[in-house]
Amino acid sequence: MPHADLKIGILALQGAFVRHQQAIDKLGVCTVQVRRPSELELCDGLILPGGESTTMTHLLQTEGMWPSLTQFAKEKPMFGTCAGVILMTKLGLFDITIERNGYGRQIHSFSASLPISLPSGQKEIEALFIRAPKITEVDSDKVEVLGKYQDEAVFIQQGHHLATTFHPELTDDPIIHRYFCDTICL
Ligand code: GLN
Repeated sequence: MPHADLKIGILALQGAFVRHQQAIDKLGVCTVQVRRPSELELCDGLILPGGESTTMTHLLQTEGMWPSLTQFAKEKPMFGTCAGVILMTKLGLFDITIERNGYGRQIHSFSASLPISLPSGQKEIEALFIRAPKITEVDSDKVEVLGKYQDEAVFIQQGHHLATTFHPELTDDPIIHRYFCDTICL
């Protein structure tokens, strides 16, 4: 499927979803904001943004979205950032142990330059960590570690699902969003 035919859903219940939408727009790919199961049905892939994982979990349950996400994930790729990774781990999509706010509180938010490995080669990116969760264990070899910060996984892939504990939507280069679209088109 060419990128031009894709429709990427952005979970828009709470959190930093607009910047994800802008990153996908930059690639010339269509987006749809997702708040209910019927909107999810239109999507070829779904981004779960950063925000508050407890609030988002609560909203997903009250909107009746939890079973739809579980079903969607079996068939189609998801990409979670920050709190989105916590949600995807709760959905059982990653064999990892994750610690909420594992790098400290808001004042401990930071930016770091780190290498990531993509099929197109190794790239150096700027990664922004904002009250980020920490992946403290990778529990199976099904998890591919595509990027590390201080020896801890911060960018992973398991099957067709991707996750970054940092915020690629807040930096200018949409390289990881492009890779997500590529995985859907495979
Ligand atoms: N600390 C938040 C949470 O655990 C995540 C922060 C973020 O997504 N930027 O819900």
